[in-house]
Amino acid sequence: MKHPFLIVLGIVSIVLISCQNKNNTKTVENILPKDHHSFAEPQIARVSHLDLSLNVDFDNKILSGVVTFQILKSPDANEIILDTDGLKIEKVMSDDMDLSYKLGERDKIKGRPLIIDLPEAVNKISIYYQTSPGAKAVQWLSPEQTAQKEDPFPFTQSQAILARSWIPCQDSPGIRFTYNAEVTVPIGFMALMSAENPQEIDADGTYNFKMPQPIPSYLMALTVGNIEFKSLGKRTGVYAEPVMLDKCHYEFSEMEQMLISAEELYGPYAWGRYDVIVLPPSFPFGGMENPRLTFATPTIIAGDRSLTSLIAHELAHSWSGNLVTNSTWDDFWLNEGFTVYFEQRIMEAVYGREYSEMLALLSFQGLLEEIVEINAKNAEDTKLKLNLEGRDPDEGMSAIAYDKGYLFLRKVEETIGRDKFDNFLKSYFNENAFHVMDTKQFLSLLNAVLNEEEKGEIRIDDWVYASGLPDNHPVITSEKFINVDAEMKKWIEGATLASIDSQNWSTHEWIHFIHSLPEDINKEKVSELDEEFKFTQSGNCEILAAWFQVTIRSEYEIADPAVEDFLVNVGRRKFLTPTYKALIERDSTKEKARKIYSKARANYHSVSTNTMDELLDWKL
Ligand SMILES: [Zn+2]
Repeated sequence: MKHPFLIVLGIVSIVLISCQNKNNTKTVENILPKDHHSFAEPQIARVSHLDLSLNVDFDNKILSGVVTFQILKSPDANEIILDTDGLKIEKVMSDDMDLSYKLGERDKIKGRPLIIDLPEAVNKISIYYQTSPGAKAVQWLSPEQTAQKEDPFPFTQSQAILARSWIPCQDSPGIRFTYNAEVTVPIGFMALMSAENPQEIDADGTYNFKMPQPIPSYLMALTVGNIEFKSLGKRTGVYAEPVMLDKCHYEFSEMEQMLISAEELYGPYAWGRYDVIVLPPSFPFGGMENPRLTFATPTIIAGDRSLTSLIAHELAHSWSGNLVTNSTWDDFWLNEGFTVYFEQRIMEAVYGREYSEMLALLSFQGLLEEIVEINAKNAEDTKLKLNLEGRDPDEGMSAIAYDKGYLFLRKVEETIGRDKFDNFLKSYFNENAFHVMDTKQFLSLLNAVLNEEEKGEIRIDDWVYASGLPDNHPVITSEKFINVDAEMKKWIEGATLASIDSQNWSTHEWIHFIHSLPEDINKEKVSELDEEFKFTQSGNCEILAAWFQVTIRSEYEIADPAVEDFLVNVGRRKFLTPTYKALIERDSTKEKARKIYSKARANYHSVSTNTMDELLDWKL
């Protein structure tokens, strides 16, 4: 459904004619965002469906095959433009006819446009191609980089604009398409995509996939490995390497309940099944919301189900992001701010408000720090509405989109009341499902349900178009953290660590405790803490990452091997960035940071090396 307000706002609405069948010409209306991160000209011709046939070659680290697109085009279209990055294009055909094409000049962010001539009757094109071994989206893990240490394990990460490095496509979040795929892999391996997935290994190594709902290219995903499946509930299950499967199954036992809670909040789940695959530790993000199959880091497997808010987050994306999608990466907060808000509501529904407020407060503390850091570089980037023209859209992936976005929505909720806001959100997801949304459209929808007094209280423009954090932000308090602070105070004033009351602390209370340690804590105190609480040996990555900030700062060298181990084995950017930063901030550990990086770099996905190369001023 399209909404009348779109036209009021002056968003271009263009009629595209599909010439697929001249006797049955269909007219398609489309909203066309201008995306400065794609070469595509969707108002002239755009893809509507793709059929992918791919062969996965482990030895040469190459994906090769053919992608066939159904095209919608305007009556005077004579070409279609796709995005590519590092692809080798072999030929372009329409059925038996060769089509002429050219690859345009390379842009350092966008890659190269693939411009294909479209004779009048052509509405289907097939591109024969292969990826390069260094394709940015794909990481070809060696057996040593997996949990099982026996088999290779390639996976893709397409967001934000990396899909073009493994499929020639119109790589813009506003352009949706359905897809089918046939993927051939070496015998004995399972292939999984962001689609209807197998649950068992195919004897011939050929897998067929179907994604009947239209998705944008950044949600295209593929992984291949020694993978097994275990069901968690009627619509939920987990995939992992065999040695990880039971641990993951235990960790995610509440997933079906999360799905039910999410539906109770904002309406039916639109994608059929919801499964999670736990990838090897070099996965650069916490999770990626690939439809029907979230890709997740193993760093959330803590053994005590304490880090599963990440699953709530990725699940929430099934509505915010995957159903209602940011129009361009400048509107990224619409994907992430909504998702953090929704995640918090799922966590509150499943674990209670006291628990979810701890999570909210930890994020808020992180946001305050990040605002200071970003403001020092470019205050513009602390606005919700970004301008990433000419820059890598990855630069917009900061706590601003996530946590400032969340706080803004929480401010709206607190101002207008939860019932009214929930009703608004429910119809927002429902009415805009499978459409793009930009900041202006969203604010127009929001303004329509606010009265003058509410608008005055919220101060929308201060939140969306101004830097930093408005002074009317919600105040988050946690009794549990107040209690942690009180115990910390006792210790600082001379009580022994054994005497402080920490028996029932959750992971989040421990993280708060570690964050709250005095800036200038000395090595002896750090050693005392470690002896009592064994932080350096923790199996919980969130605790380790927080703790290493303290050990590096205080030059507590006993933890150094663990720091190195962590950096070499874990590729999740959220942990790498602060840990390397802490190391390079001190003269005594600057060299060590570079030494560890030279060893670890090959284990990281390009998303992480991009950030770390810059941080460490790494020249190849
Ligand atoms: Zn997210």
